[in-house]
Amino acid sequence: MTDILAGLNEQQRQAVTATEGFIRVIAGAGSGKTRALSHRFAYLVNEIGIMPSNILCVTFTNKSAHEMKHRIRRLCGDNDTGYISTFHSFCVTVLQEDINAVHYPKSFLVLDNSDINDMLKVIYEERGLTLRHMTFSKARDMIEIRKLFKDPEYYKFMVSLSLEELHLKYLNALEAEDIIFWGYLYQEKKCFGLDYNDLIKYVLHIFSVDAGIRLKWQQRLEYIMIDEYQDIDELQYRLMKVLCDYHKNLFIVGDPDQTIYTWRGAKLKYLLDFDQEFPQVRTIMMMENYRSTPQILAAANSLIGNNKNRINKVLLPTLPGGVPVVYHHAKTAEAETRWIALQIHELVAQGVKLSDVTILYRAHFISRTLEEVFLKEKLPYTIYSGVQFFGRMEIKDTLSYLRLIVYKDDLSFLRVANVPKRNIGVRRMNFLKDYAAQNQCSLYSALERTIDHEIFKGTKAKGFFDLIEGFSAGYQTVPVSDLFNSLLDQSGYEAMLRTEGSQERLDNLAELKQSVYEYEITSGEENTLENYLSHIGLLTNTDTAYNKNTVKLMTIHTAKGLEFPYVFLCGLGEGVFPSKKTATLEAMEEERRLAFVAFTRAEKALYLTDAEGRNLDGSYRYPSRFIFNVDKDLLVYTAELDEGLVKESNWHIGSSEKLIEAKSSEFTFRPGDRIVHGIMGAGEVIGINRDKAAYLIKFDDLGTVRNISLRAKIEAENGR
Ligand code: ATP
Ligand code: MG
Repeated sequence: MTDILAGLNEQQRQAVTATEGFIRVIAGAGSGKTRALSHRFAYLVNEIGIMPSNILCVTFTNKSAHEMKHRIRRLCGDNDTGYISTFHSFCVTVLQEDINAVHYPKSFLVLDNSDINDMLKVIYEERGLTLRHMTFSKARDMIEIRKLFKDPEYYKFMVSLSLEELHLKYLNALEAEDIIFWGYLYQEKKCFGLDYNDLIKYVLHIFSVDAGIRLKWQQRLEYIMIDEYQDIDELQYRLMKVLCDYHKNLFIVGDPDQTIYTWRGAKLKYLLDFDQEFPQVRTIMMMENYRSTPQILAAANSLIGNNKNRINKVLLPTLPGGVPVVYHHAKTAEAETRWIALQIHELVAQGVKLSDVTILYRAHFISRTLEEVFLKEKLPYTIYSGVQFFGRMEIKDTLSYLRLIVYKDDLSFLRVANVPKRNIGVRRMNFLKDYAAQNQCSLYSALERTIDHEIFKGTKAKGFFDLIEGFSAGYQTVPVSDLFNSLLDQSGYEAMLRTEGSQERLDNLAELKQSVYEYEITSGEENTLENYLSHIGLLTNTDTAYNKNTVKLMTIHTAKGLEFPYVFLCGLGEGVFPSKKTATLEAMEEERRLAFVAFTRAEKALYLTDAEGRNLDGSYRYPSRFIFNVDKDLLVYTAELDEGLVKESNWHIGSSEKLIEAKSSEFTFRPGDRIVHGIMGAGEVIGINRDKAAYLIKFDDLGTVRNISLRAKIEAENGR
């Protein structure tokens, strides 16, 4: 008992020991929310005797899930760690058990971006579309948005229509968007694939059509805990609500100042209205910060104090004083990065490890300059981009081999049949595609049935087929890591990379091997190849390569929930951060919360930097308002800013804020309303221009239509 409660403050103890009912923890950054959550898990298991497999613990990243699993295993000495995972990963687990309810096989595939691209390629080829119609990344966004908002019940088609019926819908589609959308649904169903958006939808659907399955999961999950609750979105909320409806034990933690995903549908109201949604909610607040120095906290508090729409709370320091927060303004992006490199060299000279240094930025493109300079400066770094590590070519190829062994699906087949080269080029592949289409079979079985055809004479098709057959006959009895190594060897894939001389690719493979190995030791009894494959698609490179002694580079979104001793927040220029796209007051406050998240990642020291230059649209880049938002005496400027620059910045920021304010304010008149303008006289509103925060007005006395700013004094005509 003492073990679990030691090292917790009074509020944390309450959070840990209040096990029953609906509990909400609202607390600031670094106040020990995540710590309370993991201790609560241990408390439930060790002190109360709850089985880990009856607890669902939702973390925001796979990395925190891993960490928590390790910790629980240490505490409980048990291989069974229950359901500690992200929402998506949990859904994969549910589907692995129950997807049969919608007549999908348990061997469904989890699709990532590069799988989706492969499917798009097929669709574009078949229907003569080009990237000019829509780039792949736009197409993926379109599909996502359509699934979320425009066709939210698309999954019903996927589940109920036969493959032929879906195919027909695709063939009948005329517009590019429809062709892509239906083509994609058809492709998905063809390989029983599910993308991230499908995962929760399918689970919710299964729960709604099969009360037995729903009840089974409700009964199984005696306790549910959720971290980073301020960023929960509607689908996740619905899922959580269903799941906790039987035992009614739900524990959530969140910080309203750290909501940074409203652009993707996260809703803070779920945290704020929690006590109205659920009965007898107990709320616990924690304000003491255990992560950062008082200097860092003072700057962070000062920054977030500029948000009007917030519950006022101040983080209280518990750690002793440290060094001041430093702000450095540079003339160019290169100079900015060189300054950062210099500071890092100095830190290293003082004995700081490179892995204790993290560089955060708002947008990916900033990392390019960083990389260039770091290469020159010989500073080793790792980019934790949040894009899928598993989307890289060599990783994808290797995983496709593994998938082929289990599923023999077309996607994987297309990827690796001719990698390394086996003389199965376009002509022979087309032969297989035709055969498969005529005989309604997969490409793999097409190959099986035509392997003696003369078209394959002189190719290595037979060798490839034998390789896959050999492995799929015995894979269940071999540990995944062994299988993996012999596959890389016997397929000639690793040898091919070696011949190409690509060290980076070989390194990535080594990293993958390591992750397979780690998977094996952490997954206990579930460590089958199928299980590995269905979860791996959800991982990003943030989850791997964490232990290298290199500087970490990542976006702030990726850094959420994490902490680092030394943090550089760079690219703090207007147009970059806040981003150029920030058009409303709410969006600006979200940008500020994002900056707050960045500040509060730092433990010992925080450096803020920016560089003059031009934004993509040619506008001049001033220092970010987030610098000026911090009380000046809480920052140490490496050099005083030019007086002219400060003046111009203030003017620029002031006018941008006015515009945003105007844009966010209400349009009192609607098109068709009659109005009177103080100078121009009477007229009619014929439109609204939200971007410019203006009305389009046709004045009775003027021949043409005018844009009139919202700031102008306009009254309703009959109001006089
Ligand atoms: P965030 O909002 O950024 O997710 P958090 O509230 O989840 O932060 P934690 O990550 O749990 O905060 O804790 C921040 C740091 O403070 C961690 O290093 C943690 O180990 C430490 N910590 C938490 N509680 C205590 C405590 N009672 N005594 C000492 N250290 C603590
Ligand atoms: Mg946390």
